[in-house]
Amino acid sequence: MLAYTYVERGVFALREKPKPALLHPGDAIVKVTMSSICTSDLHIKHGSVPRAVPGITVGHEMVGVVEQVGEEVTSVAPGDRVAVNVETFCGKCFFCRNGWVNNCTDPNGGWALGCRIDGGQAQYVRVPYADQGLSKIPDAVTDLQALLVGDVLATGYWAAEIAEIHPGDTVLVIGAGPTGLCALQCVRLRQPGRIIVCDKDESRLSFVRRQYPEVLTARPQEVEALVRFGSAHGGADAVLEVAGSEETFRLAWQCARPNAVVTVVALYDGPQVLPLPDMYGKNLTFKTGGVDGCRCSEILAHIAAGRLDTVPLITHTYPLERIEEAYDLFENRRDGVIKVAITA
Ligand SMILES: [Zn+2]
Ligand SMILES: [Zn+2]
Repeated sequence: MLAYTYVERGVFALREKPKPALLHPGDAIVKVTMSSICTSDLHIKHGSVPRAVPGITVGHEMVGVVEQVGEEVTSVAPGDRVAVNVETFCGKCFFCRNGWVNNCTDPNGGWALGCRIDGGQAQYVRVPYADQGLSKIPDAVTDLQALLVGDVLATGYWAAEIAEIHPGDTVLVIGAGPTGLCALQCVRLRQPGRIIVCDKDESRLSFVRRQYPEVLTARPQEVEALVRFGSAHGGADAVLEVAGSEETFRLAWQCARPNAVVTVVALYDGPQVLPLPDMYGKNLTFKTGGVDGCRCSEILAHIAAGRLDTVPLITHTYPLERIEEAYDLFENRRDGVIKVAITA
């Protein structure tokens, strides 16, 4: 089968590989119908994910049809259409039992697919702990609608949940990339009074205004004034930092009102500074990433009911044979690309 492979630092290539087989009784083999490219794939390509194993098939955001299951798998059966979870988790350890599946203590737990084990930018993928890692897609939901459920949408959903948003709140989302846009949609489910989205890219802000006319947009240099004067208590009640730069980290706590929750979803290149003397008396609560992706069935139900829709984010589609072109487009942010679907 064809599999897009991490060859070495800076090099991905489409390779012919054997079709994966079941290795453990909890595994499932999924025939991939559609996958997507994530910024984390680019991080692997550029060598900034040290645990990524050369030779593996990349891709951790995908949907498909179950082809074969191990004898311990009970939640899915051959023929089921499924969304694949980015995270591998056992479902039994202390962290899993508390819903903190990102911290699963299993040796294979966490982000394994497309990083430490073969992922889904391929025709088939082996999914370990399939009972936890696969979610059945309801009949009313298409593959395209479900494509982002296991990774960026799960992240947005988790972030909006831990942000402690109350109805009527002013919520600031910093970053209008794919994850920021997913977070924005999930924030909307919580009936805030006002949402403000900040990004430095004007085309992304105009996308937000087109898709979500009730949302206010601002560039980084304007956002502090907008939040300060546009909210009831001198700052945002909840801030979601989904951008990941030094400037956006600073904006996140500066734009928060006293006693706000600042949810840091972004992954930074390096350490950030918390200038505690400057924020003394603000009594902020910081929550840090990454995603506990264990609510995929709930997310799929929201999609089926029309409350979440990430299809407008998928701006381009390429067949697996042309995945190089898709990466080139995504990496160089050409042609207004937000997300790319790869059909296998
Ligand atoms: Zn990802
Ligand atoms: Zn676990």
